[in-house]
Amino acid sequence: MDLLNTLVDKGLRRELPTREEALAVLATSDDDLLDVVAAAGKVRRQWFGRRVKLNYLVNLKSGLCPEDCSYCSQRLGSKAEILKYTWLKPDEASQAAAAGVAGGAKRVCLVASGRGPTDRDVDRVSKTIEAIKEQNEGVEVCACLGLLSDGQAERLRSAGADAYNHNLNTSEGTYGDITTTHTYADRVETVHQAQAAGLSACSGLIAGMGESDADLVDVVFSLRELDPDSVPVNFLIPFEGTPLAKEWNLTPQRCLRILAMVRFVCPDVEVRLAGGREVHLRSMQPLALHLVNSIFLGDYLTSEGQAGQADLDMITDAGFEVEGAGTTTLPTHRARQGGGCGSHDGGCAPCGDAPGEAAAESPGGPAARTDLVAVRRRGAGTDLAPNA
Ligand code: SF4
Repeated sequence: MDLLNTLVDKGLRRELPTREEALAVLATSDDDLLDVVAAAGKVRRQWFGRRVKLNYLVNLKSGLCPEDCSYCSQRLGSKAEILKYTWLKPDEASQAAAAGVAGGAKRVCLVASGRGPTDRDVDRVSKTIEAIKEQNEGVEVCACLGLLSDGQAERLRSAGADAYNHNLNTSEGTYGDITTTHTYADRVETVHQAQAAGLSACSGLIAGMGESDADLVDVVFSLRELDPDSVPVNFLIPFEGTPLAKEWNLTPQRCLRILAMVRFVCPDVEVRLAGGREVHLRSMQPLALHLVNSIFLGDYLTSEGQAGQADLDMITDAGFEVEGAGTTTLPTHRARQGGGCGSHDGGCAPCGDAPGEAAAESPGGPAARTDLVAVRRRGAGTDLAPNA
């Protein structure tokens, strides 16, 4: 297909595709799906070989958020029965992080619900970062604490943070439909603050919120312009008890086309398969490894992921290898002095609804696989061992 040859050539040269080309990837048929994956896979291998970077989420503070992000189980008014707890102590967070590192994660992502941190919160997280760095040599730490105020990014950097995550989530044009308590511009500003402080920026999206193909292309082109080092791609987990609970509109094939489009638009960036991969890609997850070079290990913020060992087995079985701690993730032309990298899942990430419900047909669309969504009941904030 001419389209795919053109996109591979551009990806190998780090040249931006046209919007029409990106839209055409999303419009390809299921008959062409393996050709699309193979083409984007060539670009992935050019910049990242067959390596898969593992990342591990620690939810430092769960639920009770005053913001109203429609996709989020931690939002204001959420009826989702998620774990709710206030700040983990530095040693508790460090213990949770150690489980992920022992499972092969080279980055730990520290996430807290809320609009943004107070200066006292930044102190608290700084101590946590120091504890994690002290107890896990060489580990990268990414903070995801919401909107930053002046000077906070610099303080996190001084405390040893390598990266900061703040997702754009959706296009500028649809942002107001998803969240009303802050703006798209607020989010862009926080990514700029992180970059200006020398933190490796991580910013991505959530697909499956009812957006159009044009919206998806808009947000991915905006991300390319923002130039983060890593782009997490989340697939909406429609939690019962949130406004988007009925948005079951993704198929595994659609997810693969979205990931391929992101790879073509952001060829040399760490593209991370984030929340929702088990729920929406299901048995097609190994094919996604040909497109992304990074995944989360184990559980998400408020929902459970597949077993850490299943992730490791999948990587090996698909012919990929876990990226070692001594390897620089990004290609040489992007790697920054001081070992930057790239990181996380949605905003403060999307998570899970009630476990054990049966699959149901959603009229005219893909099946609602509520049976695959389980609220996290183990790991950080509980007495049970984490899943890493
Ligand atoms: S995404 Fe973050 S800011 Fe938005 S409601 Fe969830 S926890 Fe709050």
